[in-house]
Amino acid sequence: MAFKSDIEIAREARKLPIVEIGAKLGIGSEDLLPYGHDKAKVSQRFIDSVRDRPTGKLILVTAINPTPAGEGKTTTTVGLGDGLNAIGKRAAICIREASLGPNFGMKGGAAGGGYAQIVPMEDMNLHFTGDFHAITSAHSLLAAMIDNHIYWGNGLDIDIRRVVWRRVVDMNDRALRQVTASLGGVANGFPRETGFDITVASEVMAILCLATDLTDLERRLGNMIVAYRRDQSPVFCRDLQAQGAMTVLLKDAMQPNLVQTLENNPAFVHGGPFANIAHGCNSVIATTTALKTADYVVTEAGFGADLGAEKFMNIKCRKAGLKPDCVVLVATIRAMKMNGGIAKDALAEENVAAVKKGCSNLGRHIDNLHGFGVPVVVAINHFSGDGEAEVAAVQDYVTGRGADAIVSRHWADGSEGAIDLARRVAEIADSGASQFAQLYPDEMSLMDKIRTVATRIYHADDVLADKRIRDQLRQWQDQGYGHLPVCMAKTQYSFSTDPNLRGAPTGHSVPIREVRLSAGAGFVVVICGEIMTMPGLPRHPSAEKIRLNEAGEVEGLF
Ligand code: ADP
Ligand code: MG
Repeated sequence: MAFKSDIEIAREARKLPIVEIGAKLGIGSEDLLPYGHDKAKVSQRFIDSVRDRPTGKLILVTAINPTPAGEGKTTTTVGLGDGLNAIGKRAAICIREASLGPNFGMKGGAAGGGYAQIVPMEDMNLHFTGDFHAITSAHSLLAAMIDNHIYWGNGLDIDIRRVVWRRVVDMNDRALRQVTASLGGVANGFPRETGFDITVASEVMAILCLATDLTDLERRLGNMIVAYRRDQSPVFCRDLQAQGAMTVLLKDAMQPNLVQTLENNPAFVHGGPFANIAHGCNSVIATTTALKTADYVVTEAGFGADLGAEKFMNIKCRKAGLKPDCVVLVATIRAMKMNGGIAKDALAEENVAAVKKGCSNLGRHIDNLHGFGVPVVVAINHFSGDGEAEVAAVQDYVTGRGADAIVSRHWADGSEGAIDLARRVAEIADSGASQFAQLYPDEMSLMDKIRTVATRIYHADDVLADKRIRDQLRQWQDQGYGHLPVCMAKTQYSFSTDPNLRGAPTGHSVPIREVRLSAGAGFVVVICGEIMTMPGLPRHPSAEKIRLNEAGEVEGLF
């Protein structure tokens, strides 16, 4: 039997009008701002009105280190949300919006897969409700105001060699990574080098996802550092008085989007910061609103648990006062085999020994998550070729680590396939067993915070930072930024900084290449390795196959 593609399944969805989805969460039609019939923003008035309500249970979905075999975090997030609803719980899902540009390269969709998807998936992967376009506009406004300020005499004394505010566009365009701006003579300003990042890498995105309301948004935007003077003192966005107009451009984008799953359960899809130079999870405002309207909220963090879950706990939960009640760690038999040294084209063969060997990666993630005081359930995202003995091997291993591993078939069977997982997760979340604690206190020095993550999460022996980096961290410390959490940017494929080191490596050290201060978002980015903030397209981008068919439907998108 041939499997239907994600887009074919999504197209067959029997969507309910979005007001009916809102009603499931007690959001009246007057508080939904519809974008068509199947998408709506939730009004600020409603968000303000539920702030004092009791908070539901928070369930984080994360994963082992990704392999080319694929893990399925979003798919599992959606499947678990549907599964919880199927066992009679009032559950909502919170995930990120998709970046538009990468769809035209080679990336998969961002709305889940198989029979665990969020719809309308074409919209969600493309323009959706325009949030990312608003972010691009707000970011561009500030960029224009910086060059305009320099043009009109540079009263702030900006060193034009030290403008750190780059430009953004939501497209994979490597030609724009480095550009020279203001060419063409006196009337066009002062030529200077700059470059473009993809929109999701903008600090405006990280801020939109951490801000608690529009006032907080404006304050944080004002705090962004845009340039430095010759004496190295920072120039802030607020010095250019751009934050007010930027907030105007972002006022609708700040309101969370409500959509639905294939099974008509509510899903908030809002915000989408990079998971390397930013924290990689959906907006605080969506998560907190969901927690006030549902009894269970299932949300996802990007990349593996060493990056995604660590930042979810140490950055998002810290800033928003959230406490996860249960963590679901997604693993697949295929990925265990790859971690056990099997090549991608040999994954179809049963190989219990390789599965067992690959479990070391899973085991370390379980231990790390237990270090945060949170109960862990491993979800084995079932693929059609998985062998029973292979599944049993993973279950045995996980039991030995003090957690449960539950097979989930939501990709093939929707909520019905996720009932066992949902029951166990609900039971744990209700038990109150979570003793959540962050890994480090605000007061710890920046360097010690980095060391804590490197040793406790990556299990590295050491952090390597030359004098330039240590001096920079000390300077920020002196300037009053020492209380900020650190946002680690390293490869997602390994616990170490070497993408080829699978499993649970030890004896490695973590070299820091660069540190950046995201003063508005409120974290210090620690770059360990090559980090790409403007992707390119492959030789044959998927854009070559994307088109509208005779019925006006999108073809070739996933
Ligand atoms: P992540 O969120 O971890 O990046 P996704 O949930 O988006 O992963 O899934 C990535 C891709 O893998 C999707 O195209 C999805 O359809 C596919 N996929 C996920 N789970 C399964 C499964 N059990 N069987 C087959 N394909 C799957
Ligand atoms: Mg995902």
